[in-house]
Amino acid sequence: AQTRDLPVLGICGGMQTINVACGGSLFQDLTSQMPQVLQHRQTTKAIHLAHSVDITAGSLLRKIVTKATLRVNSSHHQSVKTVAPSLIASAIAPDGVIEAVESPRHRFFLGIQWHPEFLFERHIAHRRLFQALLRAAGRTHAIPRLGIPSLTLSDGPAGVRIDPKRSDDASRSYHATGF
Ligand code: MN
Repeated sequence: AQTRDLPVLGICGGMQTINVACGGSLFQDLTSQMPQVLQHRQTTKAIHLAHSVDITAGSLLRKIVTKATLRVNSSHHQSVKTVAPSLIASAIAPDGVIEAVESPRHRFFLGIQWHPEFLFERHIAHRRLFQALLRAAGRTHAIPRLGIPSLTLSDGPAGVRIDPKRSDDASRSYHATGF
């Protein structure tokens, strides 16, 4: 994906995988390896905004959410320890835990520790993550090797419609708790 500059959005374990694949490392268990850490492994509903993150100025993430701080949900006990050499930390929790990484050399290569898939229906900033991913994917040029033509998104600027009346999310819980 990096070689072809394809848009990538890694969520939770996906963010951790991105960091390790690029040469970074992880805390295997935050609570035992980092003193005075916040409770990142929430047992509350997935829509619960558990802590804030500060978003790095000038980062892709900052451009997407257009905010300097953001409230996020949190369901992880592992986290990024050393950021991979080719990546930067683009969101940091108040306790110093790295909550997003991205590649400054690619147009959309981003990993986030929280779960916007549980938040996008209620919070515009989290919705923008998916809208930005779709926009970037819509600008992906033809891949000559596979002969796939360029995509044109015609369904509005982001190519996605979200029904604000959907509320079945409220009862949703985290499925994976291994990260
Ligand atoms: Mn967290």
